[in-house]
Amino acid sequence: MARKIAVVEGDGIGKEVIPVAVKALEKVRDDLDFFPVDVGCTRWNREGVAIDGNDIEALRSADAILFGAITTPPDPSYRSVVVRIRKELDLYANVRPVHANGVSVTVVRENTEGLYAGVEEITPERATTLRIITRKGSERVARFACGIVQPGETLTIGHKANVIKADTLFLNTCREVAESLGVQYQDRYIDALCLDVLMHPGRYPVIVTENMFGDIVSDVTAYLAGGLGMLPSANIGDRYALFEPVHGSAPDIAGKGIANPSAAILSAALLARHLGDDDSAVRLEKAVSSVIASGNVTPDLGGNATTESMGRAILAAL
Ligand code: ATP
Repeated sequence: MARKIAVVEGDGIGKEVIPVAVKALEKVRDDLDFFPVDVGCTRWNREGVAIDGNDIEALRSADAILFGAITTPPDPSYRSVVVRIRKELDLYANVRPVHANGVSVTVVRENTEGLYAGVEEITPERATTLRIITRKGSERVARFACGIVQPGETLTIGHKANVIKADTLFLNTCREVAESLGVQYQDRYIDALCLDVLMHPGRYPVIVTENMFGDIVSDVTAYLAGGLGMLPSANIGDRYALFEPVHGSAPDIAGKGIANPSAAILSAALLARHLGDDDSAVRLEKAVSSVIASGNVTPDLGGNATTESMGRAILAAL
């Protein structure tokens, strides 16, 4: 039976890299039924609305979502589109794997609470954003992270419980979940972890942390993979799943045709794996690494290829 894939190109380089990822998926599978969902700043400029309830319903109707990047509309009252999607689809685990140069580090970022919970009050004199940590939110993301720890590996809980009281709940809940599942764990202060994961990546096969810390530490781990153009992610909930590059819409290079399409194609590989198709995922990952090894790469990786020519080489490798 055909699987329905919602495609959100979004804004900026999302419009450049996602079409390449769709073509790559079409090369490895002939049973995917793609349909576009137009949300983001381009739509906001046109219609004054970046996303509405019908779009959320369209996303809910898909077996999986392939997502580019969204520029937040320049209206201070507007809430981030992707944060809304993550909340409405309850995509509570943001998984950001780095497999490169012999190391493997996966960051599992809690995706629905923390500073992104949207509990804010702004006055001319004082601005407050509450950092919400709940037992339920911590428990389910810890359970997910424990599920991807391989035998013999250690889960690392990233936190700042020595200073931020809310993190004590996150840390203790993660510890309890790991103990109940028999998963070996350690904990690290997030700031120290940002340095040590670069110095000793082999010590951190799986890191679980709250929303904002996860955003930061996964950009840090992007260094291990060669930059943001290389990093895919999966946003997983109990019912829905969305796959997107870690990078944003990159306004500084949008329209120049030089965005690295690898993160988008590797996100497509995670999507294939989510559909239970490991073979296609491995084919996509191998095609990307063979083109990178050939040196036919975009400027962020030191080459002078374009999105189009690097994409064409990856499609040819498939
Ligand atoms: P956001 O707030 O959505 O994370 P941002 O502009 O802060 O957006 P990115 O869009 O991720 O962050 O861009 C950060 C930097 O990385 C920019 O200089 C951008 O050009 C570069 N970059 C991001 N993605 C790519 C890519 N696929 N190829 C090449 N360079 C990239």
